[in-house]
Amino acid sequence: MKGSLLYEGKAKKVYSLIGEEYELILEYKDEATAFNGKKHQTFRGKGRLNNLISAHVFSYLKLAGIPTHFIQTLSDTEQLVKQSQIIPLEVVVRNVAAGSMTRRLGLEEGTELPEPIVEFYYKSDDLDDPFINDEHARMLMKVDQSDLDHIKAAAHKINNHLQVMFSEIELRLIDFKLEFGRLHDGSIVLSDEISPDTCRLWDQDTNRKMDKDVFRNDIEDLVEIYEIILKRLEAIVHV
Ligand code: 5GP
Repeated sequence: MKGSLLYEGKAKKVYSLIGEEYELILEYKDEATAFNGKKHQTFRGKGRLNNLISAHVFSYLKLAGIPTHFIQTLSDTEQLVKQSQIIPLEVVVRNVAAGSMTRRLGLEEGTELPEPIVEFYYKSDDLDDPFINDEHARMLMKVDQSDLDHIKAAAHKINNHLQVMFSEIELRLIDFKLEFGRLHDGSIVLSDEISPDTCRLWDQDTNRKMDKDVFRNDIEDLVEIYEIILKRLEAIVHV
């Protein structure tokens, strides 16, 4: 039974679960935001799409042996997860230069990177999620170097699995953002969501953008694009 609202973010609401101390309900909203909330719009059906897409991705990763917070979907817009203390670290993995990396390093969008790169950003709306290194992370949050090494290794492993999964549905995984949380037993698991809101996905043949960049840059209809991703995932992943 759904308990009280614990937190409301830009894309999701988090509820407690009556009688279950270590579980939470995530409810996905129809809001799309970009540029740290400066651009926002409501898309009917987006909450369902993000919830179901993320459920498929987490189910795939769970089957591949990645520890995650995901338990099961509860409805079109809700999922049950293990309660975790989110580490305020945005872990970005890049296979191809795009977005902020092209602006920061003067690389051309679409440049293949010689090997995947893992970056850390400090999750802070007030500061616009600044780029940080391991030393900043150790100073700012309750993590030690072994936690960071564990997170980086997990991020690379997740990247390997996701590249295979997305190539099966004819998409290139350009880059993506992960968040990790600590369970009550102290172990670190993959948390939050993985969806076209948090990944850059390009069509394998045409490089058509099939992710939140269609909203960020007013390219195509977000709901139509996310529907295509969900349909393709439903064909290869059983939730
Ligand atoms: P960039 O650093 O180029 O803006 O983002 C790199 C990747 O991480 C993109 O796939 C982007 O969607 C994702 N990402 C980075 N920061 C955030 C964030 O605060 N929220 C979401 N949803 N995705 C993010």
